[in-house]
Amino acid sequence: MAEDNFGSGELYSASHYYWSCCYVCSRKSSQGNVMKRCSRCRCVSYCSQEHQKQNWKEHKHLCKYLATAAANVEQFNFFSGFDSKEMESWKTFRMNAIKTCEILLSTTLTLAEKEIFLFPRACRTCNSTQETMYDCTECYCVSYCSQQHKQEDTDQHKSMCRNLRLALVADTYESKVRISLPAIPSNVDKKYMGSAPDITHFIPEPFRSSNNEISKSELDHCFLSCHISGALTLLHAMDKFRPELTNKKNLNIHIVGANMYEILGLIKWEYLLHRLPEVESIGYHFVGPDLENSVEDENQPCVPCCDPCTDNNRSISYSLHPTKYGEFKKQDDYEAPDLILVQNAGFSEYADNEETIEWTEGWADLPNLVPQTGGLLVFTSYTGGEAKKDLERVQKYCDVNLLVSEENPMRSLRPCRDWERDLNKDVFYSNQYYTVVQFNSDK
Ligand SMILES: [Zn+2]
Ligand SMILES: [Zn+2]
Ligand SMILES: [Zn+2]
Ligand SMILES: [Zn+2]
Ligand SMILES: [Zn+2]
Repeated sequence: MAEDNFGSGELYSASHYYWSCCYVCSRKSSQGNVMKRCSRCRCVSYCSQEHQKQNWKEHKHLCKYLATAAANVEQFNFFSGFDSKEMESWKTFRMNAIKTCEILLSTTLTLAEKEIFLFPRACRTCNSTQETMYDCTECYCVSYCSQQHKQEDTDQHKSMCRNLRLALVADTYESKVRISLPAIPSNVDKKYMGSAPDITHFIPEPFRSSNNEISKSELDHCFLSCHISGALTLLHAMDKFRPELTNKKNLNIHIVGANMYEILGLIKWEYLLHRLPEVESIGYHFVGPDLENSVEDENQPCVPCCDPCTDNNRSISYSLHPTKYGEFKKQDDYEAPDLILVQNAGFSEYADNEETIEWTEGWADLPNLVPQTGGLLVFTSYTGGEAKKDLERVQKYCDVNLLVSEENPMRSLRPCRDWERDLNKDVFYSNQYYTVVQFNSDK
């Protein structure tokens, strides 16, 4: 396999906050080794005095903010001021708390600081926080106000406990070790095998050790699934809705709303070519303003194909366009795509009203942007709730023919903590839901 160094290098993701882990080094609580809590805010913990000292300069403003707010209402900590079992108000409370805090401290909180608000050590059942809490000592990711509330949640939590542990281990790995770029399997199909029931058909799940610990191979499997989920989602959509594309000579694919992560380890996109033996070339065009810092002096990435592909005169080209899709369409080298993929689209997160033009500037013009000649738009969403809202947004502005909107069998297998707990689940996955539409209008 050709080495792909484009956009990589030593890359670390931002630190995360887990109430059970040292805020500095992420060392985990275990039975017999519980972290020491900051006695002022009672929200963050440290493995040692040394790490607490080291973090003080950075932590003190937020610490004071949290501690003062709690003292003013004579509560145990900032979060014990909240009293409602209702998930919607629990969501609003934490969201507004971040906004208010950023305004009052006139700063932008780091990811870990925001996570102090998003994932506090509050009861999983009733959202309350107090001095004595009953933690799940398997994952140290959920906690309860009483044994009774812990009991009530046993069944629901059983299905989530290991996913939460995996989320913690993966987050820590990426912030302390580095962004994981696992080797992409290099097998090349000799004949077209079609899609499959799910992603584990392509990358079988590793053996799970009997002691239930998370092994390195399990972690690597998570990261790998995350990297090839995009290519497999394309394969799956094609296979189901445009089978004729699977033997088209040259495929033109636009990855829109693209970000750094999608162009990291570009060779992952070659995985699609390896599943399509009749295809001779794929052109991938990554388009999105977020790519701004990734493209220097118009230099486009040059990633050679693997040896078997090169020997068979097959090729892949990649181009990056740090601009909005509407602008890209005006460029000379624009060619109508066979497929458009928007990963974790989040369409509904864009404000949609007269005063802001976020949505209209970015996406509302979609029907004019997607070619009418049978091109497909495939977009994915993190959760079922988002998928529904994303589709509603597209339907509000575009006359589309809906082909599918459901759970994506090619989703990533890496769990990520969900502070909104969509459908009462504690985690979500990249590309978890996928929607495929076709445009009706003949504008
Ligand atoms: Zn530490
Ligand atoms: Zn503190
Ligand atoms: Zn409770
Ligand atoms: Zn647990
Ligand atoms: Zn190849």
